[in-house]
Amino acid sequence: MAENDSKVYDVAIIGSGPAGYTAAIRGGQYGLKVALIEAETSLGGTCLHVGCIPTKALLFNAEIWDHLKHAAEYGIAGIGTPQLDWAAVQKRKNAIVTKHTKGLEFLMKKNKVTVVRGYGRLTGAAKDGVHTVDVESADGTTRQLQAKNLILATGSEARMLFGIEPDDRVLTNIEILSLPEPPKSLIVIGAGAVGVEFASIFRSFGTEVTIVEYLPRAVPVEDEDISKELARLFKKRAIDVNTGCSVQSIEKTDAGVKVAWTTTNGQAREQEAEKVLVAVGRAPRTAGVGIEKTKVELERGFVKVNEAQQTAEPGIYAIGDIVAGLPQLAHVGGMSGLVAMAKIAGRKFRAVRRDRIPGCTYTDPQIGSAGLTEAQAREKGYDVKVGKFPFAGNSKATIVDSHDGFVKIVADAKYGEILGVHIIGPSATELIAEAVAVMELEGTVDELMFTIHAHPTLSEAMLDAYAAVEGMAINA
Ligand SMILES: Cc1cc2nc3c(=O)[nH]c(=O)nc-3n(C[C@H](O)[C@H](O)[C@H](O)COP(=O)(O)OP(=O)(O)OC[C@H]3O[C@@H](n4cnc5c(N)ncnc54)[C@H](O)[C@@H]3O)c2cc1C
Repeated sequence: MAENDSKVYDVAIIGSGPAGYTAAIRGGQYGLKVALIEAETSLGGTCLHVGCIPTKALLFNAEIWDHLKHAAEYGIAGIGTPQLDWAAVQKRKNAIVTKHTKGLEFLMKKNKVTVVRGYGRLTGAAKDGVHTVDVESADGTTRQLQAKNLILATGSEARMLFGIEPDDRVLTNIEILSLPEPPKSLIVIGAGAVGVEFASIFRSFGTEVTIVEYLPRAVPVEDEDISKELARLFKKRAIDVNTGCSVQSIEKTDAGVKVAWTTTNGQAREQEAEKVLVAVGRAPRTAGVGIEKTKVELERGFVKVNEAQQTAEPGIYAIGDIVAGLPQLAHVGGMSGLVAMAKIAGRKFRAVRRDRIPGCTYTDPQIGSAGLTEAQAREKGYDVKVGKFPFAGNSKATIVDSHDGFVKIVADAKYGEILGVHIIGPSATELIAEAVAVMELEGTVDELMFTIHAHPTLSEAMLDAYAAVEGMAINA
């Protein structure tokens, strides 16, 4: 047992992903004494090391590469045949991660957060208002840390199929990020955001990609029209999308891997590829952290919380990917951390609202959505009016050579309130920010039809889509 930390912190946070580090910074800003416990050597969690940041770095390379394929068309001559330097692609991605890891270390110092390296475990309920956490260091020694409040932010990890351990052929989001070269062929199991993003990246780099999805459509949490458009545009990019398919086995072969699945109508299919990516969802990391010693309640492994992110155990909060009923997104994790910290500091806060969360998928084409899908709005009993505007009618989309996709507005017919916005096309992940702000302010079609959007911009497609709800888009 190493020496114990004699301080009693106001808050100890277990896990330094976007949920944990955001909460830690805000705690420092409130003037609280904060400890941030992290088992890995670097701060930042899944998002910074094997999630959002490295994938978006690769997607940027993929986008540039795709543009270079049309260099002559854009009037760029003299670059000969572009060559892909994969080692340089990886180096750039790693440099971005390193830069932001250092940035996080700096922010912890700036906000006087004490970073504690080691694996944190709860020891039970608070005694006289003080919780004790066991922190096991990499060398096996354990020390104890005390805090008036605890925040669990332990995040999530990739679920695997058939108990297979990931290796150099059966990949998760971790192994696929450091491949020595793009594979010739790749089967992606799962067409959620993670699966389709990797499919998009590697297709750009020339990989033959096959997607196998259990549910009837790709990106199943999105509006049905978005799923259809993505499937159509992926087909155009020669990505083979198979939906309604149940994977039966994954087998290693001399050439790589063989995946067998049954189709919706019960037909058996199998296919070989150099690699397979398993992207079938992410399991909460709630085992092994001492939850059973507390009153914290779980729901299929996820932590149940109230609107202030409080668990059933007094003084223990949960944020980020481990929370039941919240989408597993970095910005949701961060915001849930701000809510928990405000509650601890006795400050004003607003609970995380599920219908005000932007969902972004950084494929080519991008997807950005917020609020209710058309089907959800109808299920909720709204009299729904829909406006749809294709990027084909937007001049900036022509300029950036990206005409596919549309903006779809789901509005309430009675008052014209915007209930949902669903975008597929250029810069959709940026355009969606306007939609979230509009919904926060309970904007209506009438108001938005007269809200000036600059010309020529992609955001004009939003203006045309609002007007399309009344059948009055100007450019279509
Ligand atoms: C490939 C991929 C791409 C993604 N892209 C995006 C995207 O573009 N946008 C987006 O919003 N989301 C994206 N996500 C999701 C995003 O990464 C997660 O929602 C986010 O990382 C969750 O944050 P978190 O803080 O809850 O957990 P994590 O980021 O998982 O961090 C948890 C941290 O806790 C530590 N930890 C766990 N247990 C303990 C313990 N007992 N003691 C000490 N430390 C512990 C872990 O080591 C880890 O550092 C992506 C995910 C993947 C896999």
